[in-house]
Amino acid sequence: MNVLIVFAHPEPRSLNASLRDIAIEELEAQGHTVQVSDLYAMGWTSEVDRPDFPALGADDRLMPAGASRDAFKGGTLTEDVKAEIDKLLWADTLILQFPLWWYAMPAILKGWVDRVYAYGFAYGVGEHSDKRWGDRFGEGRLAGKRAMLIVTAGGWEEHYSARGVNGPIDDLLFPINHGILYYPGYDVLPPFVAYSTDRFNEARFAVAAEELRQRMRTIETTAPIPYCQQNGGDYLIPTMKLKPGLEAPGASGFALHQLAPQAEG
Ligand code: FAD
Repeated sequence: MNVLIVFAHPEPRSLNASLRDIAIEELEAQGHTVQVSDLYAMGWTSEVDRPDFPALGADDRLMPAGASRDAFKGGTLTEDVKAEIDKLLWADTLILQFPLWWYAMPAILKGWVDRVYAYGFAYGVGEHSDKRWGDRFGEGRLAGKRAMLIVTAGGWEEHYSARGVNGPIDDLLFPINHGILYYPGYDVLPPFVAYSTDRFNEARFAVAAEELRQRMRTIETTAPIPYCQQNGGDYLIPTMKLKPGLEAPGASGFALHQLAPQAEG
């Protein structure tokens, strides 16, 4: 299997870098081929801006979605963006790895998504009509591939529990897991999250490293999060409201968008 790790940490000696190396080592030990996009090391540009669209006339108004559509279709995206798209097409599995900064991904990684997820590639794909709303949320160009997050957080695990002050980690990561990974078609695996990372020492690192190794060993077989499918009959079209009764009993908020576990028959 081909695995792409998109890595967002500025320090090569960071905890994140050590965990990334563990992941690579274990994936390669399992016979997988790994590529890394180390965004800081690459000097990745994170802003979507005029230079992204060299074919746009100097006096043309920049409308980012339309410019992205035209550039993808016309093959005029910048070389750095094209290279990342090629890597996504090459990879059977995508891993996004980052420290949690202000309850979200670092800006450089968000900028990777903004620029690489072109119109016609990651969104704006498929039929848009009163019967279909494009190929997304279960369908799309990246369908059939897997994706997961490796995240480090300074806060304690309890702080990210159901009643924790930070909000549940699955809710905080929903816009990434569902909005960025599931949207273009990935099967999204449960995230690997290391907590209390600012207090790490050798003993805690050893525990986290072993948990991460185990996740890498099972990356091909781990069951994805059972998100509902937009065009698979789970939603009313065109209102995009989830049909009643599909979620687990008592589920609310973002958890509504996961199918209830099927009873063993
Ligand atoms: P590092 O700083 O590199 O290391 C952390 C600790 O691990 C250090 O004590 C280091 O000595 C030790 N360590 C590193 N490598 C090893 C190794 N190989 N073996 C053993 N020990 C090792 N946290 C939240 O929970 N929520 C937030 O919203 C949030 N926002 C933040 C915003 C900003 C701008 C910043 C800078 C931090 C924020 N944090 C937040 C904390 C942040 O998530 C953690 O600092 C980060 O996850 C730690 O990962 P790191 O790779 O940067 O660790």
